[in-house]
Amino acid sequence: MNKLIVISGPSGVGKGTIVNELLKKGDYALSISCTTRPPRRGEKEGISYFFISREKFEAMIEEDGFLEYDNHFDNYYGTPKDFVQKQLQTKNVILEIEVNGALNAKRSYPEAILIMILPPNFEELKARLTGRGTESPEKIEKRLGRISYELSLKDKYDFAVVNDDLQRAVAEIENLIKSKQ
Ligand code: 5GP
Repeated sequence: MNKLIVISGPSGVGKGTIVNELLKKGDYALSISCTTRPPRRGEKEGISYFFISREKFEAMIEEDGFLEYDNHFDNYYGTPKDFVQKQLQTKNVILEIEVNGALNAKRSYPEAILIMILPPNFEELKARLTGRGTESPEKIEKRLGRISYELSLKDKYDFAVVNDDLQRAVAEIENLIKSKQ
């Protein structure tokens, strides 16, 4: 039976790179979320997201069409149930979503394996996120608060993996996924 894997972690921790490495292995597929936010430059329909209207999104909520959904920055984001169920027929499916969505996914799909990616060194991550020099103090404060919030939910995850070395972290994740029945 294929597995649903949910990967979260603070911004800047290297989640995307880890997910890409897993996808290269061939037995994983990436879930594509629906969102009501407009596409950014370079984003493609059906690859980055399914970009849909607020009306359509709300209709899908009514029809119980989401495994989980949330509201960020006045836009909806959600994991479409149908799409994930179809993908699960052939591969393990990875959801790369933030903590609230991850915990909701676990509620509607208890077999989901929740993995939080952690930085090897928090101080360094914070320094990196605050040191870009391009953002306002409010924005930086918000981002740091977000990191603390995400970390406070670490114990609700099945596993936490430190991204100290990419290949090591990917191997650990693969072993954890295999070991979880
Ligand atoms: P962005 O607009 O930058 O692509 O994403 C904004 C936030 O939405 C990120 O924190 C991202 O993890 C989250 N997100 C993306 N897809 C989903 C989803 O399907 N469900 C939930 N709950 N959050 C999502």
